Amino acid sequence: MIKILSKNVADKIAAGEVVDRPLSIVKELVENAIDAGATNITVEIRNGGKTYIRVTDNGCGIGENEVELAFLRHATSKITTDEDLNSILTLGFRGEALSSIAAVSRVELITKTVDAKTGVSLKIHGGEVFEKSATGCPDGTTIIVSDLFYNTPARLKFMKTDATESTLIIDFISKIALAYAAIKIRLINNGTILFSTNGKGDKYSNIITVYSKSFSEGLIHISSESESMSLEGYISRPDFSKTNRKQQIFFVNGRSISNRIMDLAVQEGYTERLFEGRYPIAYLFFRIKPELVDVNIHPNKKEVRFNQDMEVKNFIAQSIKRGLLSQQAIPQVTESH
Ligand code: ADP
Ligand code: MG
Repeated sequence: MIKILSKNVADKIAAGEVVDRPLSIVKELVENAIDAGATNITVEIRNGGKTYIRVTDNGCGIGENEVELAFLRHATSKITTDEDLNSILTLGFRGEALSSIAAVSRVELITKTVDAKTGVSLKIHGGEVFEKSATGCPDGTTIIVSDLFYNTPARLKFMKTDATESTLIIDFISKIALAYAAIKIRLINNGTILFSTNGKGDKYSNIITVYSKSFSEGLIHISSESESMSLEGYISRPDFSKTNRKQQIFFVNGRSISNRIMDLAVQEGYTERLFEGRYPIAYLFFRIKPELVDVNIHPNKKEVRFNQDMEVKNFIAQSIKRGLLSQQAIPQVTESH
């Protein structure tokens, strides 16, 4: 007999694609905070995010009459028509994250818009509304996710150690802190503040805050612009290369992604300058007209597809080559920050 799945089962299935580990929750919540226009975001995790994830922002908040709606699948304030899909300007647009997260954990949302006199708290356990009440809180939104996968034992088993899960989250928030240097970002792990950026918009100083002084040494600032694309970032002098690609960070239109074309572009940009098995540091923040890139490839939005791969690759590789050449003329790293 063919039947339509209940909302609860459908949400759990959808959750499988969006939420596969604590990192995916942190990513979705932080992206929502950025989309909400926050200038201040705190991320707190405990036990690798398995037992507790909190993301607090000072963004636009959600109106009292819309809090339940936010947790419905395909409920989004970010796009309206299918045409909007051709030029996405926000990080979210699928309206799937909150419903997916709520389906597989216990969630508390505390939120207040500027206009509202008081805030609202909504608790949802395993996709079911548990409690709603008025509450005093600052403007903005806090979402607390506890007991991830308590009702999906198969997923629970697949989570790795606290250390592994927290490392993934710390790496991700570190990247976000570089990409969004104009947002104050604070990261707390098991009660300890790992870093807190100043929100002054200076990526280079955030590299020092988030990674270390030693990482910032040997970096070359690059920046180029064409009619449809722009690139800003930092790459390392060939002699400051690493033994893995961990320090290669790619953002496309503000979205942290992995992309083969950008991998190749970095390789091409450095041709012959690196020993085998060595990888440069490359923090690349690439922008392209939204209609020239497809971000709607997978529910987790970790990949993008460019309309014109070769143009993108050449543009990035050329920018890197120019950056490296300019450095040859000036042997000392002269950062003007
Ligand atoms: P999407 O981000 O794809 O729209 P989500 O499920 O992540 O879908 O969120 C649903 C909606 O809830 C968003 O479109 C937005 O209107 C609202 N929302 C979620 N998080 C926040 C937040 N931190 N601040 C303000 N509004 C939020
Ligand atoms: Mg979202």
